[in-house]
Amino acid sequence: MKTYQNYIGGRFTDASTRNVVDVFNPASEEQISTVADSSVEDVREAVEAAASAQLKWERLPAIQRAGHMRRIASGVREKAEHIARVISEEQGKPLGLARVEVGFAAEYIDYMAEWARRIEGEIVTSDRPNENIFVFRKPIGVVAGISAWNFPFFLAVRKMAPALVTGNTIIVKPSDQTPNNTVELAKVVAEAGLPAGVFNVVTGSGSSCGKALTTHPKVGLITFTGSVATGARIMAAAANNVTKVNLELGGKAPAIVLEDADLDLAVQAIKASRVTNTGQICNCAERVYVDRKIVDAFTAKLCATMKTTTYGDPLEDSSIDMGPLMNRHELERVAGMVDRAVSDGAKVLLGGKRGNRTKGFYYEATVLGNCRQEMDIVRTEIFGPVVPIVVVDGLDQAIEYANDSELGLTSSIYTGNLNAAMRACNELRFGETYVNRENFEALQGFHAGWRKSGIGGADGRHGLYEFMNTHVVYMQHKGAAA
Ligand code: NDP
Repeated sequence: MKTYQNYIGGRFTDASTRNVVDVFNPASEEQISTVADSSVEDVREAVEAAASAQLKWERLPAIQRAGHMRRIASGVREKAEHIARVISEEQGKPLGLARVEVGFAAEYIDYMAEWARRIEGEIVTSDRPNENIFVFRKPIGVVAGISAWNFPFFLAVRKMAPALVTGNTIIVKPSDQTPNNTVELAKVVAEAGLPAGVFNVVTGSGSSCGKALTTHPKVGLITFTGSVATGARIMAAAANNVTKVNLELGGKAPAIVLEDADLDLAVQAIKASRVTNTGQICNCAERVYVDRKIVDAFTAKLCATMKTTTYGDPLEDSSIDMGPLMNRHELERVAGMVDRAVSDGAKVLLGGKRGNRTKGFYYEATVLGNCRQEMDIVRTEIFGPVVPIVVVDGLDQAIEYANDSELGLTSSIYTGNLNAAMRACNELRFGETYVNRENFEALQGFHAGWRKSGIGGADGRHGLYEFMNTHVVYMQHKGAAA
């Protein structure tokens, strides 16, 4: 069995208590590793290491910081196959998708490194004579990155890369469901020769080591990806030290399919949304609003394509579309939501049951008809391969239903009508809208949720600026002689 240690101050170390967390393969249900179960003391040590390294790192010209990052990106590429297998083994995603995750993560590090020469301040005209006003952008200091299990390697990189290029140091705490790949990232970082303390990893439970990070007074920014409930707890914990938070939380993305939509395109995109990573993606279609005039044709096509979905153990069969759900709790939760939807009047058109394998947490690709706006399955994040269909009469009702949600991360619309698409873009109240394409964000965009889906966001220029403070300088100088 593998063992993984913390990475603190440039060294791999056990937890001070020698306690460990067991990590399991969701396809075989077998234990694959133990990782350090970090104590409050370990977290303190990691924060001190990050704080001691920060000023020197900040003083390094940004282009040199970027050089370190490029070495990390190339180390990730060299070990891509190994890391992809580690991800598949502990998270259950198909190997092909894990390879995409690792490749995208390497690209993300390179993309963020490119900002080194483009971090810009401003010079503003003053109301006073002989004065210039400078707006500097400066690192916040020590960043804590706490992340979810669904794209664990990419999420660690999404926090590390903007932190490093802007001159911050960082401590990452991965989910205790999928910590192994983040320690693999630490191995790449160590081999790339990043100065000690600039990047640190502490593994362990959210309630102890996660909480210790969010309450430490030397942490200047908490960047978190996870559920709404944990996000709210982190905000409350951060309030003690008035620490800045950046929260990427849950989603309940509506997909609107209008009568003039290209049905084949809509069906393929919505299937991809729900089947990719077994539906465990925050921004993918979670509820589908279909115009009454085409609902029969849409539903028949969707069921036909969803029926072809294959599932299995990602390390046994590389051709599968879906692996298992993350753990038994997730399986029971998704199965319970479908059962409740059925007792509320939904009709199972496809699937609606656990997968037919002796081991592992499998759930079949599922399509539910007869769903109504007030049902829990249409209002609460499912995070599984289940598509609830709600019939609507035209664009107005679709937009009204789509906006009627406490979550506001992502939305999509399928239509050939430019006016309808433009109206949807103007009236949908979400951080993202995809028009006639599946829901996957670009690294140069800005992934940010409205309402309970979060505060702030990630990616692109706006995501980068989340990692910096502004510092305004009022500079008086001697004017020209009168
Ligand atoms: P959780 O909120 O359960 O956990 C996320 C992380 O927070 C884990 O590392 C967890 O530790 C840690 N944590 C738990 N409690 C605390 C605490 N009190 N203080 C500090 N840290 C804590 O989310 P999941 O891992 O279950 O991920 C699924 C959720 O993430 C879904 O809602 C999904 O929508 C959302 N998500 C959002 C994305 C976005 O970009 N908006 C992207 C990906 C996922 P532990 O390991 O002990 O659980």
